[in-house]
Order: sequence, then C-alpha cells, then structure tokens
Amino acid sequence: MADDRQTRLLGADVSSLDAAAGILRRGGLVAMPTETVYGLAANALDGRAVSAIYTAKGRPASNPLIVHVESAEQASGLSSGWSEMAVKLAEAFWPGPLTLVVPAGDAVAREALAGGSTVGLRAPAHPVALELIRRAGVPLAAPSANRSNALSPTSARAVMDDLAGRIDAVVDGGDCHVGIESTVLDLTEEAPRVLRPGMVTPGDISAVLGVPVSLVGENAGIHKSPGMMSRHYAPGIPLELIAGEIEDNPDGFPIRLGDAEVWGREGIVLIADPVPYARALYRALKWAEMSGCTRIVLELPPVGPRWTAIHDRLLRASRG
Ligand code: AMP
Ligand code: MG
Repeated sequence: MADDRQTRLLGADVSSLDAAAGILRRGGLVAMPTETVYGLAANALDGRAVSAIYTAKGRPASNPLIVHVESAEQASGLSSGWSEMAVKLAEAFWPGPLTLVVPAGDAVAREALAGGSTVGLRAPAHPVALELIRRAGVPLAAPSANRSNALSPTSARAVMDDLAGRIDAVVDGGDCHVGIESTVLDLTEEAPRVLRPGMVTPGDISAVLGVPVSLVGENAGIHKSPGMMSRHYAPGIPLELIAGEIEDNPDGFPIRLGDAEVWGREGIVLIADPVPYARALYRALKWAEMSGCTRIVLELPPVGPRWTAIHDRLLRASRG
C-alpha cells in the first residue's frame, strides 16, 4: 500500500462518527479510541478490509486480531461455543479491558483469525468505540493502531504520527484511560488461562469463575497469542530497566517513580501506583523517544499482581 492516502482526523461528534462508520462499511480503515489503546478498526466480517489492517501495520499474518463488539449478545453470535464462563465474564467485566478467546463462528472473516479456529472478542469501555460499532452496524476487528513492533498509541496524535498516509481516518476521543492492552483470556482449553496479562488480573477472573486461572509462561503457548512474542510494545531507542533508584545525571532519559506525575525535558516521574502508571506508560516512552536521548533508563516499579501486566510490557520493550 502506498503511503499517500489522505488520513482524515475526525472528532467524536455524531456527524464525524457517521462518516467514520461509512468508511468502515465501505471496507476502509479507521483508528478509534478505546479505553486500553487506540485500535485500527475494519469490518470484521469483510476479509478484504481485515487484510488491509495487516498491510497498513506491517503485521505478521500469524498474529490474530481482537474483534470489538458492542455487547455480549453480539459476541455470542460470532462464536460457535459461547460458554457459561464466557457469559459470566462478559457480565462481570464488559464493557472493559478483557478479551475472551472462544471458538470462532462462521461469520468472522478468516483473516482475523491468523489461521486458527478461535476468535478474540471484547466490548471496549469507551463510549466513542461503542457508538462507532453501533453506527457501523458490524463488529470491528482492531489491533493496536501502530506499525508492527512500535509502541501502542494512547492518543489520536500518536496514531497520526505513526500511520498518517496509510489509513483512512482517525477518530479523536482523547487520551486512553487504561493505557495498556487488554488482558487476553483463553477459554478454549479445559482450564481458563491468561495469554497476555492486562489490568484485569487472573485473581479478578478467578473470583468470578470460582476456578483457578493460570498465567501462561513466556515460552508455553507459542503464537497462541502473539502479544507473547518476546520483543513487542517497544520504543524506537533502547530501554534499560533499573532495579532501585536511578543515579543523578544518568546516561539516558530517566523515567523515575514518585508520588506525583512530572513531565520534563530532563526526565519523567510516574506515580508508583499501577492504574495511573499504566495510563501514562506508553506516552512516557514515546516522550522519551522524542527527547533526543539515545536511550531510556527506567526505574522498575514494585512487584505484585496489579503490576504484572506493566512488568510484562516493560520486559518486552527492553529487549534488543
Ligand atoms: P494487539 O491489539 O495489536 O495487541 O493485538 C491483538 C492481540 O490479541 C494479539 O497479539 C493476541 O495476543 C491477542 N489475540 C487476538 N485474537 C486471538 C486469538 N484468537 N487467540 C489468541 N490470542 C488472540
Ligand atoms: Mg499491538
């Protein structure tokens, strides 16, 4: 695909959303805000439209897409095995940052499944995304709206920086509230297991289902979930993780931990609490990337169940 498409920057008002929905119905690509990160959306029932997502991102064909729905009812119609567990989890966590991997129904474009027979489904907790799905009248396949291997975008500006000229439109819905990608939960095996950690933890899921929920280790389920590729979610310059405090005048752009957020040319301080930390993380890495420094040094946050997803992204992002 040539990098010379006009990419429209749209607002989130009713007439803009109608324009975006029209583009989607005609098989085009629209980046939309969700609560996790911005997604690059296409009609999930249209194989050609879904293929165009892979081209625009330079995404490997082996990496499946999450299909975004407006409701559990719409999700169940896209699955050939919407189980009792799926019903309970959708009721407890949707709309929200939990993707359920279930047996795929026939309607979903095969291109979204990356050769498998399962589909990842999620209802996003963002009013603009939900309204866009409704107006388009179809479920939307949407991976993060970045070129493959770049940082996931948490603002419309970040999407434009990365994908302008390669997609039809970006809907600006402000900054993302969660800030990192959804938890991906596999419901197709005997026991539910988390393929990609997110802000919904195995403990949260287990509390709803009343059964243990495991977190798949890095090398366990090869390509069951490509967010598991060892280097992923990475900034364009090396990232070094520091256990303990960063020294003064470090060699690199420092991202420290503190009680309040501070954004400066000389460094960033992020709040040592997982919710605001996740919300700010990708914007901080992007800010550091743009600082002119040739590397980033980052104080590792504490360990604990609520920090697992953040540690996961930091580890992948730091691999050369
Ligand atoms: P992205 O939104 O770019 O992070 O990509 C979507 C991610 O969802 C993939 O990298 C996978 O981790 C996960 N995913 C989507 N569909 C499936 C599926 N059918 N099976 C396993 N993982 C999936
Ligand atoms: Mg991604």
